[in-house]
Amino acid sequence: MQPSAFVLFGGTGDLAKRKIFPALYNLFLDGKLPERFAIVALGRKPFNDELFRQHVKESLGRFSRREGANAAAMAEFAACIQYHAMDAGDPQGYERLRSLLEQREEELGLTGNRLFYLSVAPEHFGPIAARIRQSGLADGGGWTRLVIEKPFGHDLASARALSAALHVSFPPEDVYYIDHYLGKPMVQNLQSLIASNPVLKAVLNNRYVANVQITASETVGVEERAGYYDRAGALRDMFQNHMLQLLMMIARRAEGYDKRQVMESVYPVNRDEAANHVVRAQYTAGSVAGRTVPGYLQEPGVDPGSATDTYFAARLMLDDPIWRGVPFYIRTGKRMKEKATKIVVVFKNPLESRLPEAPARNYLIVNIQPNPSLDFRLNLSGLDGELQPLSLQPANRGEEEPEAYELLLRDALLGDPTFFAKWEEIELSWKWVQPILDAFANRLAPLHTYPAGSNGPAAADHLLAEDGHVWFETAEANPAVGVSPAGETISVAYEH
Ligand code: NAP
Repeated sequence: MQPSAFVLFGGTGDLAKRKIFPALYNLFLDGKLPERFAIVALGRKPFNDELFRQHVKESLGRFSRREGANAAAMAEFAACIQYHAMDAGDPQGYERLRSLLEQREEELGLTGNRLFYLSVAPEHFGPIAARIRQSGLADGGGWTRLVIEKPFGHDLASARALSAALHVSFPPEDVYYIDHYLGKPMVQNLQSLIASNPVLKAVLNNRYVANVQITASETVGVEERAGYYDRAGALRDMFQNHMLQLLMMIARRAEGYDKRQVMESVYPVNRDEAANHVVRAQYTAGSVAGRTVPGYLQEPGVDPGSATDTYFAARLMLDDPIWRGVPFYIRTGKRMKEKATKIVVVFKNPLESRLPEAPARNYLIVNIQPNPSLDFRLNLSGLDGELQPLSLQPANRGEEEPEAYELLLRDALLGDPTFFAKWEEIELSWKWVQPILDAFANRLAPLHTYPAGSNGPAAADHLLAEDGHVWFETAEANPAVGVSPAGETISVAYEH
């Protein structure tokens, strides 16, 4: 790896403490940082280098995946870090930062390669990028990259304004938009897994696949993020970015078909028809893992009259020869029964149309978290509806598995943009989402409810039942309802 400097705006913040420093530290322990490397952390708080290094060591003790971290290694890592107090709005701060950086680069024999990571609120992104450019910080003589964290806009117009502001100062190829779902090892493996396995590649198309279900469910509520969440909701917070990126990853299927093409092929949903294709809901009081929890409207910091969605599901169809006619059902929610991110591919059963009693379908389950694995439910026993589970787990498990931020930060330092969101994908995602936001704003889509600790609202079951499908957990509980002979709509008993 090339010698480089990592400049962290927001070095004193929560994300830096919980994710960024632990990721850099674990890369350091694995010998995956450049041999000559400097970290400059920025914030307004009045730390000096020593106090800040102490703060980082405490964060590593709490948040690094390698617990009981080795004191000597932590001290060696912390010695790479310098702290510089500055207000991001103060032009002189950038001049001082430039001198400090040049001095550090000279001491360590660095060659002017600089990565600027903006772990600050989004209103700072454009102004900081502009000041980095104006102050000459981007002209260190090597490469310069800018890494930013979501949210990338609040709607289509603000996302476009953000990219315009960033791209005035940095060419688009130097801006790395982090979507940490793309850093999850199972998501990263998807592409090579499919490309290198003809058995999978051959069946991922509309000839064999009945539908695809992408789920990210959380058991937590809004925790201490109520203020932010109540303005965002599940559609903005999870769906527009992480969920649509997962769609692009699974639907691209093979090399040579990029994520942008997938997103371009998704049929738009117009505002007035949104309610036919999406389900929005809010959790009410319930019980999660045996604990009674309040409803969303009773959460501290939430407007008691809020119409914010804590659950969002949608049916997306692709105008593409491989996937035409295959619904992609995507859902995400808070306070659900289970914490899990997974993609379930539901295969058609060729015998379905010929038999009076429908045989069980076969499933491929890509478990992304918490326990990455590939699971199959295979109808090995013929017609009796018994599904046999078969689970393949990656050899590299548990504590040793790198975290998303480790993989992504290393890629950014290497200049590999493969697992970052591209601006075009972000814009296309917002384009798809905007009419639905408009439908919400104009009360054109009902707000359903679901009890905390359930699998979501009944309306989301109906969304699939309209097409003769059921969510995987319903099919798993009762394999016989997993199919709809000859395309008839089936009725399923909903339990919530
Ligand atoms: P945070 O804890 O509020 O930290 C904000 C950081 O910004 C602090 O280091 C703060 O420094 C710095 N800052 C604020 N105003 C500044 C100014 N005028 N000049 C210089 N520095 C300033 O926020 P966070 O949770 O770390 O989030 C950072 C970014 O990541 C946000 O864009 C957020 O949306 C995104 N993000 C966070 C998470 C997460 O899990 N935390 C997840 C996804 C995305 P001082 O306090 O020292 O002034």
